[in-house]
Amino acid sequence: MTRRRLTLLAVALLLTAWGFLPEFTITMLNYIGLYALVAVGLVMLTGVGGMTSFGQAAFVGLGAYATAWFCTVPAAANLVGLAPGSSALPWIGLAAGLLLSAAVAWCLGSVTLRLSGHYLPLGTIAWGLSLYFLFGNLEFLGGHTGIAGVPALSLAGIELRSVRELGLLTWAVLLLTLWALHNLLDSREGRAIRALKTGRVMAESMGVDTARYRIKVFVLAALLASLSGWMYAHLQRFVNPTPFNLNIGIEYLFMAVVGGAGHLWGAVLGAALITLMKQYLQDILPSLLGSSGNFEVIVFGLLMLLVLQRFSEGLWPNLAQFFNRYLRSAPLRNNEAAGRLVARQLPEKGSIVLNACEVCKRFGGLLANSNVNLDVRAGEIHALIGPNGAGKSTFFNLISGVDDPSSGSVSLLGSDMRGRSSRAFAASGLGRTFQHVRILGNRSVLDNVALGAHLRARSGWIASMLRLDRSEEAALMSEARRQIERCGLGPQTDEMAGSLALGQQRIVEIARALAGQPSVLLLDEPAAGLPYLDKQALGQLLTQLRDEGLAILVVEHDMEFVMNIASRITVLEFGQVIAHGSPAEVQVNPKVLEAYLGGVDAELGA
Ligand code: ADP
Ligand code: MG
Repeated sequence: MTRRRLTLLAVALLLTAWGFLPEFTITMLNYIGLYALVAVGLVMLTGVGGMTSFGQAAFVGLGAYATAWFCTVPAAANLVGLAPGSSALPWIGLAAGLLLSAAVAWCLGSVTLRLSGHYLPLGTIAWGLSLYFLFGNLEFLGGHTGIAGVPALSLAGIELRSVRELGLLTWAVLLLTLWALHNLLDSREGRAIRALKTGRVMAESMGVDTARYRIKVFVLAALLASLSGWMYAHLQRFVNPTPFNLNIGIEYLFMAVVGGAGHLWGAVLGAALITLMKQYLQDILPSLLGSSGNFEVIVFGLLMLLVLQRFSEGLWPNLAQFFNRYLRSAPLRNNEAAGRLVARQLPEKGSIVLNACEVCKRFGGLLANSNVNLDVRAGEIHALIGPNGAGKSTFFNLISGVDDPSSGSVSLLGSDMRGRSSRAFAASGLGRTFQHVRILGNRSVLDNVALGAHLRARSGWIASMLRLDRSEEAALMSEARRQIERCGLGPQTDEMAGSLALGQQRIVEIARALAGQPSVLLLDEPAAGLPYLDKQALGQLLTQLRDEGLAILVVEHDMEFVMNIASRITVLEFGQVIAHGSPAEVQVNPKVLEAYLGGVDAELGA
């Protein structure tokens, strides 16, 4: 059986049992569905995108209050030209809740998501609290008493009065959401969202607009929370501020984390677990410990600690591992006709692709780069060498848009790149690797490499969610496979990138850069950590790329490697160019010998 079949089977079973299950079970299932909808948004935000939010309950509140207001206040109904009590009002309420949540999330997101480290979660606590108190203090929302008399939903003329009826809607919405998000994650856009977690520098260098993606994920999570709030209001038939307070926001986060923060189904598992646990603790504890204290909160906290301590990745991965023993993996479908990717023409051999002119970089009192002039031409390998701390990585950042030079200019393919972001560099044809490897360790090599081709495809979020991106995705995958084969990692294609040796991870980065079809390739210490034979293979790959017309700039400490492949070498020391020329010229340059043999780094002599 494949995973897809098992899922369909479980859904069919649930549907069949729905009519027979006792009322209490259905009620619990209903709440689990509603909570899971919020938690799955948090999985996207926190687990996948790496942004922690304690404030999701506030968005649930926005969704609930919006519909409650439209459905119960006659003036609100008149506002949209409907008679009070009209069965269309809940749908107006839904639209209003979603719009309001999106708008609020957009505004809050543009402020809070700029924060980093602890400040982002603290920020979410701040606005979570503010919205909660706002609900309680607004007169027209009924203050702390709330709004009563919210009508039942009616869908195609059928009133969803009982939990059994409304629960069907809840679960249909949840399952559809899971399907759409699963599709989204399994796409070009999903890879970009995952890349947010590794920090901005890498994702931006692949051409991902990280600020925009962060806000979009944030809005998505808020919309799901709001949708849940809408159904919650029509299930409870009244709203007050209590279910939208910070405690509940923390509980939602627990659901996502306990279930398995990076896994969509983990949200369902977490929601189920926590809902049931709270229910049973409430029932059992008073009979064990007496009803004088709120023991369930304490026991709940302890249990959470225990789970997180024992299963730091959440429970879902363990469960999935168990099932995977009995499941076949679905056959790879290669039947989608691969579409075409955006292609770029390589510049003419010998032409200057990247040019740095009098580039300086100051860090406080330290001049890390001082009037560095360097150009890289199509069809050549240019090596940048120098002792540790000479300023090579700093220079790399300046010519790839990660950092701005203090003075001097950088041009790429003839256009001045002053003030442009690393995304713009990537879009203009610059591919790069990092001295400290930046890959998604728990994604396959294939996924990692496909991220490199981000800018060569166009499908957006909606298309990805609806699986309209399949031919483009097939093209991305076949391009990624091609680059992986070319770099000699074919046998590792489906392995987790993090499980490879460090040297191989560097090669993954090269394949990823190549997937973007760059005109110029910047490699920061690509041979570090590679065994001798692999170094030779890497050398061959680079010379082959050179012969195809790529411009390559490589920083490397292995002198034998450099001398064998480089056409020209530039030597940096203390941020200044001390020599420039062919390998033979540089090798006998007295200044270079002094820098290497006189200093701590004696690579040339070694
Ligand atoms: P290399 O890559 O040649 O070993 P780097 O470019 O990493 O050298 O560093 C050059 C110098 O600039 C070092 O003295 C380093 O400490 C300093 N440096 C690099 N980045 C920063 C930074 N962000 N802030 C302050 N100093 C830095
Ligand atoms: Mg360095």
